[in-house]
Amino acid sequence: MIDLDACVEGVLACDRIWLGRAVTLVESTRAGDRELAGELLGRLLAHTGNIKEAKEAKDVKRVGITGVPGVGKSTFIDTLGTHLTGKGHRVAVLAVDPSSVVSGGSILGDRTRMPNLAVDDAAYIRPSPSSGLLGGVTRTTRETMVVVEAAGFDVVLVETVGAGQSETAVAGMVDLFLVMMLPGAGDELQGIKKGVLELADILVVNKADGGNEIAAQRAVRDHRAALALTAPAQPNWVPPVLAVSAIEGTGIDQVWRHIQDYFGQATASGQLAGRRADQQVRWMWAMVHDRLQDRLQKSPAVANLMPSLEQEVAAGRTTPATACDRIFAAFDG
Ligand code: GDP
Repeated sequence: MIDLDACVEGVLACDRIWLGRAVTLVESTRAGDRELAGELLGRLLAHTGNIKEAKEAKDVKRVGITGVPGVGKSTFIDTLGTHLTGKGHRVAVLAVDPSSVVSGGSILGDRTRMPNLAVDDAAYIRPSPSSGLLGGVTRTTRETMVVVEAAGFDVVLVETVGAGQSETAVAGMVDLFLVMMLPGAGDELQGIKKGVLELADILVVNKADGGNEIAAQRAVRDHRAALALTAPAQPNWVPPVLAVSAIEGTGIDQVWRHIQDYFGQATASGQLAGRRADQQVRWMWAMVHDRLQDRLQKSPAVANLMPSLEQEVAAGRTTPATACDRIFAAFDG
């Protein structure tokens, strides 16, 4: 069994071995481990950006990054991350990849996709966990954020693919959400789901290089014009649209300046505190939701009922609403 005192101490000292053990514990779904993980997180929480009293709270920036596969997320994170460690920051990269649950492997956060950060002592990369439900993956990521923040990483980048519910989940656990796009293709052609752009606090058009510069500037203008017509996600903040080349590193410093501006404004206006409070409440409900689902699935009365009830619903003999009532009646039993 893990020695919790040593683990807390090791994480706070940013000992890589303890950091790895702590994250492995947090990722475990075994009941005994969950209990230990709960205790560990309780002790680490005071060393993260979560504490309300500003003097104790660490100055942490939680940034979500999304975009369709191929847009250049890992290249961008490698370049931005290296830029930041060069300025003295410590950068953690986490990933939320729901497909890893199905495929058993993660395409995101793989160390080989970020060759510079992977060998950078001031960086820590953790691929998406590949077991459990989507809810489990997002829970693990939230908890891993606590561990890496306690270990002193002050910029936490959470990467996710631009498809499905994972963006909403990630947008709900970060302070700033950055959406990456390609020049030249319409949103739909790029596979950007409706609603995702509305979550963006910063939009980045990548691959503005090698003859694509004009197309990228046009994309920037188009997105600025489109944004002017929509209500901003945050009051007092119009999401900037920036052209970058992740490969050449152009525009990266500008992105960082806008990220800093955002945090400056959001801190001064109290919006950051509000967003963090909201993250905590969402986290609580996500956990309630997961635990309820888990209990439902483990309830013998529900398990007995399930096969025939699913068939009845599928065949149209029972309405979903009636079936739902019966499931809860069995559960409450
Ligand atoms: P991800 O799937 O979103 O993580 O995208 P990757 O970072 O793996 O990049 C996908 C492909 O686009 C790779 O072949 C990269 O080399 C290339 N790429 C990434 N950023 C840039 C860029 O700024 N300019 C150009 N020309 N290619 C890029």
